[in-house]
Amino acid sequence: MSIKDNLQHIKSTIPEHVTLVAVSKTKPVSDLMEAYDAGQRIFGENKIQEMVEKHDQMPKDIQWHMIGHVQRNKVKYMAEFVSLIHGVDSLKLLKEINKQAKKHDRVIDCLLQIKIAEEESKFGISTKEAHTLLQSDEFSELKHIKIAGLMGMATFTDDMKQVESEFKFLKSTFDDLKKQQASNYQLEILSMGMSGDYKLAIDCGSNMIRVGSSIFGARIYQ
Ligand SMILES: *Cc1c(COP(=O)(O)O)cnc(C)c1O
Repeated sequence: MSIKDNLQHIKSTIPEHVTLVAVSKTKPVSDLMEAYDAGQRIFGENKIQEMVEKHDQMPKDIQWHMIGHVQRNKVKYMAEFVSLIHGVDSLKLLKEINKQAKKHDRVIDCLLQIKIAEEESKFGISTKEAHTLLQSDEFSELKHIKIAGLMGMATFTDDMKQVESEFKFLKSTFDDLKKQQASNYQLEILSMGMSGDYKLAIDCGSNMIRVGSSIFGARIYQ
């Protein structure tokens, strides 16, 4: 099936309140343009450099989401245009995003990445750390960022029961943290679910899914 067919198929199977982020990392601009021509306007990349290059070459009505781990010294390259940063996992990183957003006189929406998987390799903070961060005075002073939701990645396993319990845990954290809000903190987005598990994620309460290989085909890493 073509990229267009894949996109249309996925869109026809997800509820309207769920936002589809087309994860285009490693894929050439020609593939992204095929998705763009089929109506897709939200793309997710996991490397800042690659996202900047694609942003330069592509139409300007695209919303670019940074879904990967963010290195602080590279925030400046995307601060002008990035529309959502999914993988925020420290106050230190938030401060840098705030500083760079201020230079461009904008507010950058961010998601806190919560660690729900068992793997050591996955990034993210605990629910408790998220609570502490959001309650801190230092956080309340950041006027150029907004915490718009949470993001999580389940363990890479065939055990769907485990994946389900991790998604449910993230949803309960979301519901819990949502009870409070501030001028720079209002949870609306719950980003969970990828090609292999987005249906389950939606059943568990996700309203933003990040889908790559089911749209663009398998990735080849050199
Ligand atoms: C690569 C990636 C995805 C998409 O993965 P697929 O299995 O190809 O859909 C989603 N989220 C993050 C954070 C990723 O790095």
